[in-house]
Amino acid sequence: MLFIISGPSGCGKSTLVHKARERIKNLQFSVSHTTRKKRFSERNGEDYYFISENEFKSMIKEDKMVEWAFVHGNMYGTSRKEIEKKALQGDLILDIDVQGAHQLMDRYRKAVFIFIFPPSYKELKKRLKNRGDESPKSFQKRLEAAKKEIRSYPDFDFIVVNDDIEKASEELVSIVLSARCRIEIKQKEIGRIVQSFNEAKRDYDE
Ligand code: ADP
Ligand code: 5GP
Repeated sequence: MLFIISGPSGCGKSTLVHKARERIKNLQFSVSHTTRKKRFSERNGEDYYFISENEFKSMIKEDKMVEWAFVHGNMYGTSRKEIEKKALQGDLILDIDVQGAHQLMDRYRKAVFIFIFPPSYKELKKRLKNRGDESPKSFQKRLEAAKKEIRSYPDFDFIVVNDDIEKASEELVSIVLSARCRIEIKQKEIGRIVQSFNEAKRDYDE
């Protein structure tokens, strides 16, 4: 199953995904490609595949991206290879912007789309500032984009408001676990149980 997480930059997507993955078994993370510069704390191949604009454009041309978008002046995308490789290992979680999420809504109709809200605009600004990764220009771009991005929330299946991190991560975990209980996911397991009833000999007196 695919879980698509979206929401404005700084709302806490990475933090929540990290926490959810600590608590849930078999939940892989889709590593995106980007032309953005690597942050000091990031690792190539773990947080992103950091590539040049030319490399990114070649991947688009060769139809290697399942979705991609310009976000805050850089290119970001999910490769077909990443999805195919990781989906074999279990459920897969994608942290992508709203444009990418919209592209996947048509392609993966059974995926679970989750929108993360910060508690307020003021708090988002504070979190972005405290994270301290952005230049003043990028900081401004992210805040301006946030105003537009939040308008997309009605297109999503679930909403998590990331005010208290423990409460919010518990909600994200609940969404993943309850999606795993959907009848179409349980069908195989249930089939075996039902069969055991159908095959059972009558071993009691009526
Ligand atoms: P995103 O991945 O959406 O851009 P991050 O996960 O990087 O956001 O979070 C942005 C900043 O806010 C980080 O410094 C993170 O530690 C902090 N943060 C995340 N969730 C909370 C929360 N619930 N309360 C306070 N700070 C938070
Ligand atoms: P950041 O630069 O803070 O890591 O990410 C900026 C934005 O790009 C975030 O909203 C993040 O969700 C989004 N993003 C990350 N990877 C992808 C991707 O593969 N595709 C798209 N469309 N957006 C992505």
